[in-house]
Amino acid sequence: MTWQPAEDRYARMTYNRCGKSGLKLPAISLGLWHNFGDDTPHALKQSIVRKAFDLGITHFDLANNYGPPGGTAESAFGDILKTDLSGYRDELIISSKAGYGMWAGPYGEWGSRKYLIASCDQSLKRLGLDYVDIFYSHRFDPDTPLEETCGALDHIVRSGRALYVGISSYNSKRTREAVEILKSLGTPCLIHQPSYSMINRWIEEDGLIDTLEELGIGSIVFSPLAQGMLTAKYLGGIPDESRAAQDKSLNRDFLNDRNIENIRKLNAIAEGRGQTLAQMALAWVLRGDRITTALIGASKPSQVEDCVKALDKRDFTADELAEIDVYAKD
Ligand code: NDP
Repeated sequence: MTWQPAEDRYARMTYNRCGKSGLKLPAISLGLWHNFGDDTPHALKQSIVRKAFDLGITHFDLANNYGPPGGTAESAFGDILKTDLSGYRDELIISSKAGYGMWAGPYGEWGSRKYLIASCDQSLKRLGLDYVDIFYSHRFDPDTPLEETCGALDHIVRSGRALYVGISSYNSKRTREAVEILKSLGTPCLIHQPSYSMINRWIEEDGLIDTLEELGIGSIVFSPLAQGMLTAKYLGGIPDESRAAQDKSLNRDFLNDRNIENIRKLNAIAEGRGQTLAQMALAWVLRGDRITTALIGASKPSQVEDCVKALDKRDFTADELAEIDVYAKD
């Protein structure tokens, strides 16, 4: 039988305006960086995406290189779109990116027009789509004129391959430059995708968060759970199925006694608020309404469920924020 999404899927999610644009994004979005490659059973990937959509998560974030191997997360999501979500394309915001190494030779990474346009075409093919909603320059390229990178993004929109464009991990200075160029080309920058969490506050120190607010650009913050560190999962050791155990991108060295002790303290603060630590970490990045959406990853549907409940309690007292600052150090 064909899968049917929950009828009440829009009942509980909050949708935030993305900067000064007309687009709204769910307060929690789902990224497919991990757990969507060839090493994960298809049924599990499908169940994570279904759960997310059922809970009102309309935004799915991909990139050319997500897998492993690179490209397979887009192919898997393309298959799920076909079997489960083909009738819901207009309810979805699907993004992809290019910037990191994707194929051999001088044209398979960074920010040239050659790479960005070819990579976007490859992504569309894997996803089985005519267009993505948002296409990103995944990282600033110090050796390519920003005019060329932004010109390629503009072309990607004008040629119908994407509806909006964004940039990822650009610092405040480069963001201002890119936003200005894109504006002059007539393709406004919709969104910025930086990392941000209680233990990674570079966007505050760099001033990027102020810049985005000033320029009316939306923000989607990745790794708000610090890849799982800001959850209770590592308090009793390293579980076999966790990201840290699988030697993926989360370095076990971060899970040292001092950090675990701090996470234990943060967990106690979360418990005092009646939340899981994951929920508190998400509420924290979303506090004050300066961040459009928190971009989580998940290795099972129950994690998505747990994370979305963060929206039930988003406010913090000044004392709670001060106590979090004691234990959540950058
Ligand atoms: P998170 O910080 O949300 O970490 C996700 C991991 O946390 C999960 O895989 C899971 O770990 C654990 N987790 C999630 N929810 C819970 C829960 N409720 N309870 C316990 N554990 C939980 O984000 P990611 O680092 O995965 O990044 C999210 C997305 O951001 C990516 O998929 C990608 O789309 C984007 N991204 C963008 C980058 C860029 O350069 N633009 C770079 C990195 C990410 P486990 O697997 O161990 O169960």
